Amino acid sequence: MKFAITSKGDTKSNTLMHKMKTYLLDFDLIYDEEQPDIVISVGGDGTLLYAFHRYTGRLDKTAFVGVHTGHLGFYADWVPEEIEKLVIAIAKTPFQVIEYPLVEVIIRYQNGGRETRFLGLNEATVKAVDATLVMDVDIRGQHFERFRGDGLCVSTPSGSTAYNKALGGAILHPSIPAIQLAEMASINNKVFRTVGSPLVLPAHHTCTLKPVNAPDFLIAVDHLTMLHKDVKSIQFRVADEKIRFARFRPFPFWKRVHDSFVAD
Ligand code: NAP
Repeated sequence: MKFAITSKGDTKSNTLMHKMKTYLLDFDLIYDEEQPDIVISVGGDGTLLYAFHRYTGRLDKTAFVGVHTGHLGFYADWVPEEIEKLVIAIAKTPFQVIEYPLVEVIIRYQNGGRETRFLGLNEATVKAVDATLVMDVDIRGQHFERFRGDGLCVSTPSGSTAYNKALGGAILHPSIPAIQLAEMASINNKVFRTVGSPLVLPAHHTCTLKPVNAPDFLIAVDHLTMLHKDVKSIQFRVADEKIRFARFRPFPFWKRVHDSFVAD
């Protein structure tokens, strides 16, 4: 089996990465950063986001597992004291694969520019560059509302505990193939009106944002923010691709939610 390791880059994570690499090579596994069967992320949830984006081109062939060197993570469940156990599990046991849904983002441009496509593990957000975001929101091809406010966030179920939660969105179990649209500070008064509640869309529904005024936007997909100019539309839906996690023991989602947000 071929493996790769991504580290957060701090001393603790780097030391663990080198240790795990040595142990796994001792078990005759092959280190291959280009075409790994398994990617071990050492750091936090942010580190797993980086690892995911590095390997989005081979999601059907690569499984991920996370070791956290800071606080408990949603994507990283192994602690540094357990790395020998994890190494033995990777080297000796066929692992179970758990799949989580992703969000697909397709950005189309005015003047026939070539569309761009991204996959998000947590979410995609859209903000205006220096003014209020004004967007027509279509759901399944039908006009739903005209949004005015700071921005919009479209999250995956596993990303629902991240930015989406800070926006008052619901926490969705990652076994539900859905995306969630949440508002960032919408303007609501006698003139302007939005639904005001997060919306959960099933896999066969798309959500499309169409600019009303300025066509330039800051679009973030997970930790990556880019300025997109001359945008015609931004379309979101549940992606056909999924992220695959290598599971060697149970990692119940609601326990993670409890331990992260209620009590450790
Ligand atoms: P960061 O600003 O360094 O860290 C954001 C925090 O979100 C970290 O504590 C990270 O955990 C945590 N996190 C990441 N994915 C999560 C998940 N699925 N569930 C619960 N917590 C999660 O940024 P980053 O490390 O590059 O991560 C980018 C993410 O930051 C974005 O995808 C977005 O979700 C989040 N974000 C949140 C807010 C907000 O809550 N207001 C604003 C902007 C961005 P670790 O410490 O384990 O890495």
